[in-house]
Amino acid sequence: MTKRQEQILQIVKDEGPITGENIAEHLNLTRATLRPDLSILTMSGYLDARPRVGYFYAGRPTSSVIAERLHKLIVNDYKAVPIVVAESASVYDAIVTLFLEDVGTLFVVNQKGLLAGVVSRKDLLRASLGNKGLESIPVSIIMTRMPNIVTCTPEETLLDTAQKLIEFQIDSLPVVRPNEEDPKTFELLGRITKTTISRAFVELGKETNV
Ligand code: ADP
Repeated sequence: MTKRQEQILQIVKDEGPITGENIAEHLNLTRATLRPDLSILTMSGYLDARPRVGYFYAGRPTSSVIAERLHKLIVNDYKAVPIVVAESASVYDAIVTLFLEDVGTLFVVNQKGLLAGVVSRKDLLRASLGNKGLESIPVSIIMTRMPNIVTCTPEETLLDTAQKLIEFQIDSLPVVRPNEEDPKTFELLGRITKTTISRAFVELGKETNV
């Protein structure tokens, strides 16, 4: 919102209903100069206009309340526990873990516990096609590995993570923090998945004050 639009809103809040002419007088401007601002404020739902009466303050539009709430949803408040396997684990072990933990994606960690890779359902399916010795294939061979992993930080908004999930066509993101000893490597703090985003979406929809 521009400074002038804010001034107009304040005048209407204080003195509404008020005509366009009178608002213009308050601001020492002509009615014609104000017309675009008044249309924007009316179309976006802040102001209501009634013929021969003038402008009323209509309250904040629902869209602006929702947008503000959306930008306040932070990864740290929504992240789930990451399900991990060691780099040395076999494809067979990874598949068992996927079923036991009821997740679609596993994060692979190295001996120091730092993020080394990601294996998804399809990675495991692909590795299983025509391969009998799944116990002897390490996940590290089939995983998507660092530095090609798309990550997020605890401070990011859920909106940012949802955008990454869409842009990179993936189902989950590891929540990470750079390792103090080597900032190019990451400690794993959690995960954000499409389920996380759906849950937040439903919560937002249920809020009665929206
Ligand atoms: P699915 O197996 O259901 O297609 P995804 O869409 O998440 O699951 O994975 C697609 C591909 O992207 C897989 O090869 C997987 O290893 C990779 N992948 C998954 N998550 C990430 C991520 N956060 N960063 C980079 N690559 C990823």
